[in-house]
Amino acid sequence: MNDEHSRALYDRALSVMPGGVNSAVRAAIEPYPFFVQKGDGGHVIDADGNRYVDWVLGLGPLLLGHDLPEQVRAEVQRTASEGPMYGAPTEIEVDLAEFVVRHVPSVEKIRFVNSGTEATTSAVRLARGHTGRNKIVVMQGGYHGAQETTLVEGDADDPKPSSAGIPQSFAEHTIPVPFNDEDAMRAAFEEHGDDIAAVLTEPILGNYGIVYPEEGYHEFLREITDEHGSLLIFDEVITGFRVGGLGCAQSKFGVTPDLTTFGKIVGGGFPVGAIGGKAEIMEGFTPAGDVFQAGTFSGHPVTMAAGLETLKFAAENDVYDHVNGLGDRLRRGLTDIVADQAPNYTVTGTDSMFKVIFTREGPAPSSLEEQCPAGCRQDPTCPRYDYSPKNAADVKNADTDRWRRIFWGEMKEQGVFLSQNQFECQFVSYAHTEADVEETLEAYKEAL
Ligand SMILES: *Cc1c(COP(=O)(O)O)cnc(C)c1O
Repeated sequence: MNDEHSRALYDRALSVMPGGVNSAVRAAIEPYPFFVQKGDGGHVIDADGNRYVDWVLGLGPLLLGHDLPEQVRAEVQRTASEGPMYGAPTEIEVDLAEFVVRHVPSVEKIRFVNSGTEATTSAVRLARGHTGRNKIVVMQGGYHGAQETTLVEGDADDPKPSSAGIPQSFAEHTIPVPFNDEDAMRAAFEEHGDDIAAVLTEPILGNYGIVYPEEGYHEFLREITDEHGSLLIFDEVITGFRVGGLGCAQSKFGVTPDLTTFGKIVGGGFPVGAIGGKAEIMEGFTPAGDVFQAGTFSGHPVTMAAGLETLKFAAENDVYDHVNGLGDRLRRGLTDIVADQAPNYTVTGTDSMFKVIFTREGPAPSSLEEQCPAGCRQDPTCPRYDYSPKNAADVKNADTDRWRRIFWGEMKEQGVFLSQNQFECQFVSYAHTEADVEETLEAYKEAL
């Protein structure tokens, strides 16, 4: 595969951009990332003209793939041609807000912002303002964007900033616990219950290998937060309008959070974030309440048009049947391949998300018959149950170097673009076809 143009572009980029990229994970590919020239349905074409089946999809936003359906494209172009933005409200913001409120059970009011990071930052401030408390419980390995409260590692007794530039005194207001661990959560509430403003979690760990919740875990979070007067915040930036269709992951799991953060799909491929939830809590934002929140670009008309038309298209067409059907075929196919060729590994994901975690230890291959057929569900009767990754530490223990340094490149050589490391998940779009799935499964067979 020729990659001269990508190499030359990265050379130029290194001179003018830190690490040569505008977002850290893009540089995870070694020795340099390929630069994208354009998208084409479920494919991308790089700067040297190489074509790949694209399962990265902008790291999540592109539910419909790279070619917007005519009605979406027309509205985006019409809105942009009337003038980029105004600093005054427009009708389309109200339309998209009404759409989300109608479809997502817990959302009575919503505020749009410009990124998932901004959404979680504002949600945390709102939770602190609403409760008058300081501490936020997060899941180890959960991702909530590049913000001070959540870039924290360690454990409940010893939280530390996970990035330079964040004071230790900030990290002390964050309590990281393992996902799926009820005892750790109980202990955190026993010690700090009166000062916990919120538990902030992704319904499914979507930025750390894909980890599915144990049966009853979210109900447990709902109960323990209610008992202590803390808020439950679901970060649905990645799962929103992808898992559970238009009702999002909270409708799939039947749990009603107090606040939800959105991003990615809700902007139809343009920069977006949003905070939604109970009216009484949402009214805490200025100007209704006293928790300051503002943004020059918030509710940007072009983003609102792209988001609304994308979601309307999904409501009116078989988008979720299509992407979830192909997701299921991918996960079933991968489960068979893994059983044959790499019985230690764990296939994860649900709906239109998928990943293979390079788990190191594993059950005897002879017992794999009754395993979860289409992605790990943390089912205690599954022969893999004791080995399946249940939290971030389990995923971190996987063979992450082999994934990134060996496996990723072998897939790329076969024309399949997977996410840049073991941790980011992969997605199916409406533009993908059964042929893309078959081609991808063949490539996995070669590369695993
Ligand atoms: C992507 C993501 C974010 C951050 O969103 P940005 O738009 O990149 O700032 C936050 N939370 C989750 C769960 C995400 O997947």
